[in-house]
Formats: sequence, structure tokens, C-alpha cells
Amino acid sequence: MSVLPYRPEFENEQPYGAPQLDVPVCLNVNENPYPPSDELAQDIAAAVAVAAKGLNRYPDRDFMDLRAELAAFLESESHVRVEPRNIWAANGSNEVMLHVLQAFAGPGRTVVSFAPTYSMYSEYARDVSSTWVAGSRTDSFELDLEEVRAVLERERPAVVLLTSPNNPTGTALPPHQLIHILEIARETGPRSGQASLVVIDEAYAEFRRDGVPSALELLSDYPHMAVSRTMSKAFGAAGLRLGYLAASREIIDQLTVVRLPYHLSALTQAAARACLAHSGELADQIAAIRADRDQMVTDLRALGLRTVPSDSNFIMFGTFTDRHAVWQGLLDRGVLIREVGPDGWLRVCIGTPQENAAFLAALKEVI
Ligand code: PMP
Repeated sequence: MSVLPYRPEFENEQPYGAPQLDVPVCLNVNENPYPPSDELAQDIAAAVAVAAKGLNRYPDRDFMDLRAELAAFLESESHVRVEPRNIWAANGSNEVMLHVLQAFAGPGRTVVSFAPTYSMYSEYARDVSSTWVAGSRTDSFELDLEEVRAVLERERPAVVLLTSPNNPTGTALPPHQLIHILEIARETGPRSGQASLVVIDEAYAEFRRDGVPSALELLSDYPHMAVSRTMSKAFGAAGLRLGYLAASREIIDQLTVVRLPYHLSALTQAAARACLAHSGELADQIAAIRADRDQMVTDLRALGLRTVPSDSNFIMFGTFTDRHAVWQGLLDRGVLIREVGPDGWLRVCIGTPQENAAFLAALKEVI
């Protein structure tokens, strides 16, 4: 036994994280493969230089300018007007989600999602001492509304986390299903008369196919819903660490209670605003990644493999009797993908056309 009072429930836990390996082709953590343009890099540097002159002072704690610019981006991307006061932000949507669970879950409460889904959720729940319950999905990785109803009515969760498009499957949640779930959740909160807070994690939403709406469209009708987004994926700024959330004013005020003071550094705010000023340049890049994704689906199927329909920048494919051997075979050829999701499946994210070609060539050799 250790002499230090480490929390016993963490005793056998390992830190979360995909392997960070130095290989030529990295298609394992769903990043945008294109680095910022020279113009954007220069604007970030200039904005950070201005912020650096004021580093003796704490940053703007309420970051209203950044919130206004995030709201403007959401309006241009999803055609939904969200007021700056209805936006929250933190160091990655990971931290946003932790704030949500700190404010709404905590000891004695339950957090629910439906597996397979993003594997960090159970860790956020663990960290705030909440009970974690994962319901199941159908064989095609969609939500089963009867299963959702049964789990919500049985568990009475404080928070329901739904990912759309889902990671690692890539599947989006159809709006009629979401509306149905939001109706169920109106009355399934921890106490009678309370709702469960339903958080839609839209980390990959910008990659959704035409005609697939964002949950943002339902925000004004369902005050027990929040929608989280990130600049780590389509925005091409994973290194920035900036995630954000749109929700009712009440929810945002409640999140403010648990955030650390000055949690968003002045440098982060400056760099994020510089990236947002260039968001108009993203459309072509996102369109290219979406087209390359659809091509990758065709190419994987031509190899006789199964793929799951994807609205994101990654594809779950399989199935393999020994998926680890396939993953290792690719790594031996300089291509890193992710061994994640249900047994037999692997996940690859879309890279540059050269990276995609290298992945396919290596995969042909391995299988
Ligand atoms: N949600 C989902 C579904 C993700 O896949 C990820 C990153 N892999 C995140 C949230 C976290 O993203 P970030 O903290 O970089 O915003």
C-alpha cells in the first residue's frame, strides 16, 4: 500500500491516450491533415505577440469577444443564431465536458451513453465520482429508441452524452431520433419532475453529409440540451486546445461556477480568434476531406471490407479475426491508425491524398 492517500478507485487506472508515435503517416486521432496556411500562421503569431505584451495581467475571464466570434462561426456553419452569452468555451471539448459533468453529475448521480462511443466519457464520469452506464447500440451502430427509453427510465441519469457523428463509428444521429430522445429525457432526471441534461457532442459535425442537420437547430426548443463543438477537428487546430458549447443562458451560468478562474489563457484566446478570422478558408478544405472520405469508403469496399456509413473524417472498417495483427502490419509499414471500437473493427482517419494512398497500399499488403 502506498503511503500517500491516492484515491483507491484510481489505483489500477492508466492515463488515457492514443499512442503518439513518430511514423510517416499518422491517421489515428482524427486530426485535420492540413496545417494552417502561412497567412494564418502569421496572423496567429501577430495576435499572440500582442497578447504577450499583456501577459503580466490575467486574461479576460469571460472571453466575450471569443464567444461572439464562436457564435458567428456557428451561424455561418449551421445557420443557427446563438447569442454570445449562450456559448461556453474551455481547453478542448474534453474540458468543456468535464465542466458539464462537474456541474450536473458528481457523486451519487449517473451519466449515460450508448456504446461503442467516445471512450473518454467513462473517464470524465469516473473523475467526478459519478456512476457510468453504457447502453447498447444496434448491430449497425445506431441508437435503438426502446433501449434508450429503457436505460433512461431505469437509470434516471443526470447527464446523457450522445455523439453525433459518433466516434468511433462515424454515424450521425438522425433528427427524428434526437427529438424522440429529447422528449424521453424531459422527465428522466435524478428527481421526479427533473429532466436529464442531453449533451450532443458534435466534435465532427462540420464533416456531416449534405442534408444532415446539426442539433443546434433544436436548441431553442429544448432547454435541457447542450451542443458541444471543437476547433480540434475540421478547424485544423488540435494543438490549440479550444472546445466550446452552445446551451441555454442558465446552463452556461451554471458551468461558470465550476470553471477554474482564468482557465482560458490570453494566448489561447488570441490564437483562437486569429483562427476564427480565417474560418472562411475552411469550406474548401472540409469539402476535400469529405470527398476523400467518400472515396476511401469506395476503396475499402473494393478490397472486400465492410465500412460503417460515416459523417465524420474517419471510417470504421473491418472486420478482421485478428485486428491487432492488421494494425501492427500497417504500423510496420509506417502507417498508424487506431485499434478502437468493437472487436474486429479498426478506425482510420482521412489524411492528405498521399497519406490515404499510403494507407491503402499498406493495407493491401497486410490483408
Ligand atoms: N469528442 C469526441 C467525440 C472526440 O472524438 C474527441 C477527440 N478525439 C473529443 C470530443 C475531444 O476533442 P478536444 O478535446 O480536442 O476538443
